[in-house]
Amino acid sequence: MSRVLTLLAVGLWATTGWSQNWVDEKTIGIYVFHSEFPLRDIEPLVVELGELQKDIESTLDLTCSDRKIEVHLFSSGWRFNRYIQANVPDGAGRRALFVAGANVGKVYAYRHRDFETDMRHEMTHALLHNALPYVPLWLDEGLAEYFEVPAPLRAEKRTRQDGLGGLLNQRIAPLAELEAKRKLSEFAGKEYRDARCWVHFLLHGPPESHAALEEFLTTIPTGREPTPLSVSLQRRLPDVEERFQKHFR
Ligand SMILES: [Zn+2]
Repeated sequence: MSRVLTLLAVGLWATTGWSQNWVDEKTIGIYVFHSEFPLRDIEPLVVELGELQKDIESTLDLTCSDRKIEVHLFSSGWRFNRYIQANVPDGAGRRALFVAGANVGKVYAYRHRDFETDMRHEMTHALLHNALPYVPLWLDEGLAEYFEVPAPLRAEKRTRQDGLGGLLNQRIAPLAELEAKRKLSEFAGKEYRDARCWVHFLLHGPPESHAALEEFLTTIPTGREPTPLSVSLQRRLPDVEERFQKHFR
């Protein structure tokens, strides 16, 4: 867009006035909701989000701080995109997002068929960042993929995205390969799936793998650099690749 057009657009913006009218604004526990539709429409999900924190804390042996999480809910993808482009331009093009902040975490999502999955996914990021000073990208996404599934289905090894053939004959990236990815742009569908597989192995695989994850998560808040999980897993389970394959066979 030319500079003149840009100025014109900004001018129009100013005169037409983008005003965000939230239909429902409510604080429930640590969640501060700003919603374009009544929250009573999604009451079971709101209750589930309270459970999600307890699930994350008990599964990972973490304690989430009571730092507030602002949750912005939109009635359509169009309205969501318009808001994100104006207020969080870096998040443009995404379907839902979490933005970490110093004092408050912010989640943005809109109602559509997979709204509940998106909400559990982004809220997992928000809660993890309330519990830990940082979370490596692959683990952050792997855990969000794991917890985005309704609680009774989380232990299942394959998900919808794995297709009818499940995980058989598919190449899952070695953990070190995922650890090397530092940008979200390096994550596509396959990387999300692979990160979820490794998280599943860490949580439901041999006891040594769960112990490695626990050691990793308890080291992060100390300020010491945790040993990469690919390394500590290999130490605890010299045949980790074989055990990983066997876990999903
Ligand atoms: Zn994510």
